[in-house]
Amino acid sequence: MRHVHLKVGFWQDISVIPLKIRQTSSGVHLFDRRTGLNILLEPKSTGLRAPSLAPRQISVALSNACDLRCSYCYAPKTSGRLRLDDVVGWLADLDQAGCLGVGFGGGEPTLLRDFPHLCQRLAAETQLAITFTTHGHHLDAALCSRLQDTVHFVRISMDGVGETYERLRGRSFSALLDRLADVRTLAPFGINYVVNDDTIGELDAAVAVAVDAGAREFLLLPEQPTSARSGIDSETMASLHAWVNAYQGSLALTVSAAAADGLPVTAPLPREEPLEAYAHIDANGTLKRSSYDDSGVAIGDGTIMQALAALREMSEGTA
Ligand code: SF4
Repeated sequence: MRHVHLKVGFWQDISVIPLKIRQTSSGVHLFDRRTGLNILLEPKSTGLRAPSLAPRQISVALSNACDLRCSYCYAPKTSGRLRLDDVVGWLADLDQAGCLGVGFGGGEPTLLRDFPHLCQRLAAETQLAITFTTHGHHLDAALCSRLQDTVHFVRISMDGVGETYERLRGRSFSALLDRLADVRTLAPFGINYVVNDDTIGELDAAVAVAVDAGAREFLLLPEQPTSARSGIDSETMASLHAWVNAYQGSLALTVSAAAADGLPVTAPLPREEPLEAYAHIDANGTLKRSSYDDSGVAIGDGTIMQALAALREMSEGTA
């Protein structure tokens, strides 16, 4: 693990913060998981070495289980659950190889009894930024207190507002708003918003709710096709483009990589290759290029770095 200490001035306060260093094909990436601060030093100013072997970000589906039944859910409906010790071992290796952050999902990670323990171990044993995606309904004050100081960002799924949310998610919208008040005490959080013909008309209202609740980011997730549904239609996608182009709000908008085409997206590291930016481990221990992929490389008894090398080879073979 390598760190650099950098002096940063905020108003009259001067802080010394430890930054994790990652070599990328775009330059040297410095990162602080506590604040989310990212600094990219251009290659010509750094004497760039070989890029770090791990992806910048890894997502992990700890289990496929969920207590909601959203019709557009793309999580596999088969059983699958990772062992905590395997997850810690894989993530410790990725951390050492230059990975900056892990995002847990599933399924619903807060259903797992040992989820707070997993986050505690990772916060203590690695330098990874720890985030997770959740429907939020189990994040009461007690669970938030167990996760305190171990999680760096929370992603709350909220598609539509009021009656639309309740119809799509089958849970009370006012209960979700109560949970957001608890989440706000835990860590900075963002809203994940599935965009489809049910939810497109409520984007302004949803952003207003997110701002009121104290969210830092609003992630647009155009609905992806599954075996049961065809995904966002072209008319709704065109409306989304128009809405994004007209957006004047102060809350930061982001969009899933799978659906960024045609939207005014700024790539943070434009020279990054797909597996340099991101990879996914599913709930059966298969490493994939993304959570939407059907195939990948089973990690099995090998190491995560061996699986990553095999996946890179496989991707180059099919590129
Ligand atoms: S809350 Fe998430 S994981 Fe659960 S059913 Fe809905 S979309 Fe799927």
